[in-house]
Amino acid sequence: MVLRYAPSPTGPQHIGGLRTALYCYLLAQQNNGELILRIEDTDQTRYVEGTEEFIIEAVKWLDMSFTQGVHVGGPHAPYRQSERSELYQKFAQQLIDQGNAYYAFDTPEELEEMRQKLQESGVDQQTYNYISRQSMKNSLTLPAEEVKERIDSGEKYVVRFKVPTKEDIRFKDSIRGHMHFQSSVVDDKVLLKSDGLPTYHLANVVDDYHMGVTHVIRGEEWLPSTPLHVLLYKALGWIESMPTFAHLSLLLDPSGRKLSKRNADKHGIPVFPFDWFDEKSGETWSGYRESGYLPEAVANYIALLGWHPGTEQELMSMDEMIQSFSLERCHKAGAKFDLDKLNSFQQHYLRNKSTQDLGALVRAELEKAGIVISSDALLYGAVDLMRERITFAKDMVQSGAYFFEPPAEYHAKTVKKKWKAEPVEMLKEFTEELKAMAWDHGSLHDGFKAFVEAKEVGMGKLMAPLRLALTGAAGGPGLFETMELLGREESLARLQQAFVALPV
Ligand code: GLU
Repeated sequence: MVLRYAPSPTGPQHIGGLRTALYCYLLAQQNNGELILRIEDTDQTRYVEGTEEFIIEAVKWLDMSFTQGVHVGGPHAPYRQSERSELYQKFAQQLIDQGNAYYAFDTPEELEEMRQKLQESGVDQQTYNYISRQSMKNSLTLPAEEVKERIDSGEKYVVRFKVPTKEDIRFKDSIRGHMHFQSSVVDDKVLLKSDGLPTYHLANVVDDYHMGVTHVIRGEEWLPSTPLHVLLYKALGWIESMPTFAHLSLLLDPSGRKLSKRNADKHGIPVFPFDWFDEKSGETWSGYRESGYLPEAVANYIALLGWHPGTEQELMSMDEMIQSFSLERCHKAGAKFDLDKLNSFQQHYLRNKSTQDLGALVRAELEKAGIVISSDALLYGAVDLMRERITFAKDMVQSGAYFFEPPAEYHAKTVKKKWKAEPVEMLKEFTEELKAMAWDHGSLHDGFKAFVEAKEVGMGKLMAPLRLALTGAAGGPGLFETMELLGREESLARLQQAFVALPV
């Protein structure tokens, strides 16, 4: 089995493209197959600097390895189409020689005129096809010497595919079943542009054939091009080795529209794996990585956008997905993006990180925020107490900074409701007892319990002001565990600070 992911470097890698790459990867891994990363950069006018690197970084981020490709080399190098022009020219020539393609000299104005005319006469498809080609300037209508003269004199031309009239085009799509088209709906697409470079169609078919690709997985937007590709395989004599096609459903935003970057942005959904600064518009689009998502969570979540494993299990490691992936279980209908679900996956993967790994992620965020971590023990202890309460490592900056520095402010509502003269007096008394108490959470709990029982007040009455004094917050993980971690000296200092900062 040979699969390829063939993005065009015309913009940053969209999350939909990453899903395509992931499905290719899963299938290739499952079948011990080849996976190729090919860069389809034949449209030089749409080339965007930096996007090839972006694509490579993105597949690496999701931990997808390729057996061949622009970044790893391989037997079919080069894997960048702009470096393979000769090959495409050769096959364009073969198609011309066989009578399956022709030269066309029409200027942009003449093409526009044709479109206008067709539109005026009410023809739906304003295209260059088996009817309109007869009245245009091409090697089918012009005398052979004139064609030669025009080419020899350096006149600009394109090579168009001569779509056969009235031919049935059939192919099987692994997701959509048997597909059937009439060749009359296919127009005479340009194969070779006036700059000598191929269009996507020619380059794609030539490369898939030469690289021995057996399965083409790509987005639904390429389905309308497939009939032309089938005709090209036939004309080139390659129909026996034509790959199996699988066209994936579109990704939709929560309101059911295409997951374009603007639609997605309205719902707070990133569409790129990493932040991307668009030089043209001056806008920065946020990426999953910088938003704090873990690659495992993103991979697991996007795999389920359009594929169902057939069991109830949704949380899956890459290995599990490799085991159970199948194209037959991919949906035809569009897949709606659900940010809450992604976030629940994110929580799951974050919680299950080892203390060291999560500690490293949290450390980076705290340091970015200028928070000083005095010891690894404190960091790891805080991480273990907070892992159930955070979705992103950066959440620790907001909700767990107090492990590392005394509260700079106190939760106003709690101050108002719970920081009253009577409990504060009791807290001062309890502070004295703390000085001699054994400093582990069990003893602290028992000591606190004995204290409130002796005072005949509920635990809650003192617990809230105690937490407020120590952390500044209204809630958090186990208070006695937190105290144990902070240590006696720090806890007593914070209590003193609160008594001064919050007069009653
Ligand atoms: N270069 C096309 C793209 O950018 C690839 C389509 C295909 O996989 O055939 O999506």
